[in-house]
Amino acid sequence: MKVTETGKAQQETAEKFVHLLRRNKLKVTQPRLSVLQIISAKETAISQPELEKLLGDTVDRVTLYRVLATYEEKGILHKIFDLHGTATYALCSTACDEHHHHDEHVHFICSACNSIYCLDEIKLPKINLPKDYRLQSIGINAVGLCAQCKTVSH
Ligand SMILES: [Zn+2]
Ligand SMILES: [Zn+2]
Ligand SMILES: [Zn+2]
Repeated sequence: MKVTETGKAQQETAEKFVHLLRRNKLKVTQPRLSVLQIISAKETAISQPELEKLLGDTVDRVTLYRVLATYEEKGILHKIFDLHGTATYALCSTACDEHHHHDEHVHFICSACNSIYCLDEIKLPKINLPKDYRLQSIGINAVGLCAQCKTVSH
C-alpha cells in the first residue's frame, strides 16, 4: 500500500516537472528531470559537485552545467553563493520567468554545515538608490546555526 502511494507521488512530481519544462519551451530530457527531482526533494540549496555525486554516471558534467545554466536563465533555479563562494542552486518561486527573477528573500547559511535555506517568508527591504543608479539585484544572507547544528551543539 505504502509503496503504491510513494510511486504515485513520484509520478505526480514527474508530471509537474514535465509541465514546467514544456511551459518554458524546453525539451523534456532525463538529465533535466533528474536535476529537478533532486533539487525539489532537498530542503537546502545544492551545489554542482553535490549534484554530480547524486546523479552518478547518468549525467556528465558538461550536460549538468548546461542544464543549470538554462534553468537559471529560464527562472526555474536561482543561484546563491555559500560561505566559500561556491555556487549553489535552489528552486525559484513561481513568480520567476525568463530573465526576470523575483527571489527577493533572505538566505540563511549555516556556518557549521554550510547548508543554505531559502527563507521565502522574509522579504528584502526596499532599497532607495541615489539618482541615476540602477538596481540589478539584492542579496541578504543571514549566517548562523541551522536547527540541526544548533541541536548538536547543545
Ligand atoms: Zn528566480
Ligand atoms: Zn547546519
Ligand atoms: Zn532562495
